[in-house]
Amino acid sequence: MTTVAVLIDHRDGEVTRPALEALTLARSLGTPVAVWLGSVPSADAVALVGDYGATEVRVVDAEMRLAGHAAAALGAALEDADVVVVISTFVTKEIVTRLAMATGAGVVVDAAGAEIVDGRVETVQTVFAATWNVRTRIHTERAIVGIRPNTTQAVPADTPGDAVIVPVTVDRPATRERVVAVEPVERGAGVPLAEAPVVVSGGRGTGGDYALVTELAELLGGAVGASRDATDEGWISHEHMVGQTGTTVTPALYVAAGISGAVHHRGGMQASGTIVCINLDPDAPIFEISDFGVVGSLFDVIPQAIARIREHRAG
Ligand SMILES: Cc1cc2nc3c(=O)[nH]c(=O)nc-3n(C[C@H](O)[C@H](O)[C@H](O)COP(=O)(O)OP(=O)(O)OC[C@H]3O[C@@H](n4cnc5c(N)ncnc54)[C@H](O)[C@@H]3O)c2cc1C
Repeated sequence: MTTVAVLIDHRDGEVTRPALEALTLARSLGTPVAVWLGSVPSADAVALVGDYGATEVRVVDAEMRLAGHAAAALGAALEDADVVVVISTFVTKEIVTRLAMATGAGVVVDAAGAEIVDGRVETVQTVFAATWNVRTRIHTERAIVGIRPNTTQAVPADTPGDAVIVPVTVDRPATRERVVAVEPVERGAGVPLAEAPVVVSGGRGTGGDYALVTELAELLGGAVGASRDATDEGWISHEHMVGQTGTTVTPALYVAAGISGAVHHRGGMQASGTIVCINLDPDAPIFEISDFGVVGSLFDVIPQAIARIREHRAG
């Protein structure tokens, strides 16, 4: 039986939705056990990971943001695990590459899916601005997979695992670097861009007015994105930028409003589930990659979309 260790992504002790996606994927590969870095999780958090199939929660008192320490902690909690699944983020990619170096495991990050083929883990990745799909088979005894948020639908297990806490101790390894200060950057309310299930982005076509884009994003429970031109204009902060130099997003729904669809922008959103665009120019390149496109002004189209969604929800 394949044991799959899942590094649980949590924010201030609350399990994130991508962590539940990782547990769902892990169930398709074998039996999931959760690995929790940080102080002991709440009973609710333990019950939740149990609902998604974890039989154990291995708790290591280690800080996620110290990648060397986190890699050692994750390594100590692996025991019998044949496969390790993490949600691909800047931090976890550093952790798993260190872990792979230390343990000789094969690693693939930014995968969009994984399955067992001929007894080995095989991953799917969408690469080069979503122009190629690549399958990679990991040949080592232990495989590490970093999975992108929003690529697996989180579904509770038919038979919930009765998760129990198993404390794991690890010595803090000697490191060659030391974090001297950590200061969180002020973030707006709402879902972080990289893991949002819906992203509504506005570009130069907004003329700097993000009220409608924000209203639609909030209505759909999503995050606000932007093109680089919009962030360069100072209309919205750089943390909202989607694309080659911005954040790569793979939401189930991506709405591009007043964005032309330059290659640098597409590189960061082309692998989204359904792409909808709103643009005045019917020849804008964004239409080539959209599942649904509306030719018109975002100032006319978005209010109509908002009204229809509200009407629909009202019943
Ligand atoms: C090295 C490099 C890296 C880059 N990285 C990125 C990146 O990560 N992300 C990124 O986004 N860009 C990036 N860029 C910039 C990129 O090439 C484009 O310049 C940028 O994406 C264009 O932004 P835009 O679509 O908002 O503006 P434009 O290309 O000017 O498009 C505006 C669109 O809005 C439409 N429009 C105007 N008014 C309305 C309206 N009322 N309603 C609806 N539509 C309207 C227009 O028809 C037009 O299609 C990069 C460039 C370089 C050189």
